[in-house]
Amino acid sequence: MLIVMKPHATAEQIEAVKQKISSMGFTAHSIPGAQRVAIGVTGNRDALEAELFITMPGVADAVRVSQPFKLVSREVKEEDTVIDVGGVLLGGRQIVVMAGPCSVESKEQILEAAAAVKRAGAVILRGGAFKPRTSPYEFQGLREEGLKLLALARERTGLKIVTEIKDTETVPMVAAYADILQVGARNMQNFSLLERLGSLDKPILLKRGLSATLKELLMAAEYIVSRGNHRVALCERGIRTFETMTRNTLDINAVPVLKALSHLPVIVDPSHGIGLRQHVPAIARAGVAAGADGLIIEVHPQPDKALSDGHQSLSSDEFATLMKQVEGIARAIQRPLISALPG
Ligand code: PEP
Ligand code: MN
Repeated sequence: MLIVMKPHATAEQIEAVKQKISSMGFTAHSIPGAQRVAIGVTGNRDALEAELFITMPGVADAVRVSQPFKLVSREVKEEDTVIDVGGVLLGGRQIVVMAGPCSVESKEQILEAAAAVKRAGAVILRGGAFKPRTSPYEFQGLREEGLKLLALARERTGLKIVTEIKDTETVPMVAAYADILQVGARNMQNFSLLERLGSLDKPILLKRGLSATLKELLMAAEYIVSRGNHRVALCERGIRTFETMTRNTLDINAVPVLKALSHLPVIVDPSHGIGLRQHVPAIARAGVAAGADGLIIEVHPQPDKALSDGHQSLSSDEFATLMKQVEGIARAIQRPLISALPG
């Protein structure tokens, strides 16, 4: 249930509603929002009677939330969530592009990639330091050394950094370096990790699982938000289908459907979505046209030498060309691209 307070409800009246919720054995969640004060109720098995709350002083309305995902739903919060990543606004009118290599491989590689993606207009640098690889014999990432190199690239370019968090043990270490923590597709339903991230004060980029439904993705986001971390962005990165010509099938439907069901920002990852370098630009353009709030794209200074995902990584030049196209599409739908910050 969602309890909406009157515009001039006092702090005491808000507190009284929260107290009542707790005394019933349920959890009260303050819903951040500029427009109104609202309190979400979770933990109840059966629907609550609206009368229990609408008779309380300061309460404007008590409405049932029909979706199983509560706090991330549009029913609970109508306005878009805008995540402030050190001045870069994710989920606002402007489209945010994150780009960089699949993995951080060396100082030269990450600094070159960072400079190139910044030049082309990206504002967030991606790069994995802890890589969840299908084979245990493949490159697993530079671990903390990789995080240090990302931090160096941030210092040199002013780009924010997004990097994958692979397990609960490394949360403090990764959080100490990253601006956004990325939960990979393989970890979308790692519930202990999601719960841990729920108590963190850092934005989370939650990628859709390889065969997860949109409901499962939203329920995974609910795990994080229900623990108190409201700064979650959803990422469509392609799902497993019967098709074998492409690595995955980017579910373009996910973009408008997620935007309608949830107030969280939606990011499209065309690189993992199709898995073929020559087709990444088409899918990136489609993502923006479909209403994504941002893109995350793999770019490598020498894609053919990449230690992971080279076949789907764009060269710096290819990325620069794509950014011009993306800018055109963004303009056509009245959503300008955020351009690189000075520094
Ligand atoms: C990645 O971003 O490099 C990655 C491993 O993505 P995903 O979890 O979507 O496979
Ligand atoms: Mn990758």
